[in-house]
Amino acid sequence: MIINAITEKDCHAFLERGSIGRLGCSLDNQPYVVPVYFAYESDYIYVLSTLGQKIEWMRTNPKVCLQVDEIAGQSEWMSVIVDGVYEELPEPQYTAERAHARTLLQKQYRWWINALAERQAKGGEALIEPLFFRIHIKSISGLRAIEGAQASLKNV
Ligand SMILES: Cc1cc2nc3c(=O)[nH]c(=O)nc-3n(C[C@H](O)[C@H](O)[C@H](O)COP(=O)(O)OP(=O)(O)OC[C@H]3O[C@@H](n4cnc5c(N)ncnc54)[C@H](O)[C@@H]3O)c2cc1C
Repeated sequence: MIINAITEKDCHAFLERGSIGRLGCSLDNQPYVVPVYFAYESDYIYVLSTLGQKIEWMRTNPKVCLQVDEIAGQSEWMSVIVDGVYEELPEPQYTAERAHARTLLQKQYRWWINALAERQAKGGEALIEPLFFRIHIKSISGLRAIEGAQASLKNV
């Protein structure tokens, strides 16, 4: 197996076709990672959420990351990591950005289901306030593994 870094341009193309990533945030030296649906455009990752631990943590510490991968097999995969800054998109200041996020996210069938259903499972029928946020991308890196010369156990 051969692992190569992929170009920034390829990282962007990869994020454009991706839809599920693992969002990492941290507070008081404690990391927290959750899967989320996302949409990507130029310098931003957009996510629909509800209020909970990740939002409370990101409000306190806005330094976050998102890892996205495509795994075709043990020796054939791509992985991209984005580092960035959490930006909440509340009404009414960000009405236009929220509408834009909705437009991007709704390319995914039933794009709202995981964010809202998870909260509903915890909170019952109480009114659930949807919350949009975006990650302003500060840096990006990517790796691709392809079948090739075998790495041997002797090298490990
Ligand atoms: C495929 C997929 C897509 C998803 N897409 C979205 C999305 O787009 N937007 C969104 O907001 N949520 C999405 N979720 C749900 C998300 O992963 C979180 O479960 C949810 O957002 C609640 O996070 P929270 O920090 O608000 O947790 P809280 O409700 O505040 O819960 C706190 C505690 O619950 C536990 N917990 C919470 N979430 C998880 C989890 N996923 N796995 C195990 N334990 C957990 C942890 O112990 C955590 O400390 C998705 C989940 C999956 C599997």
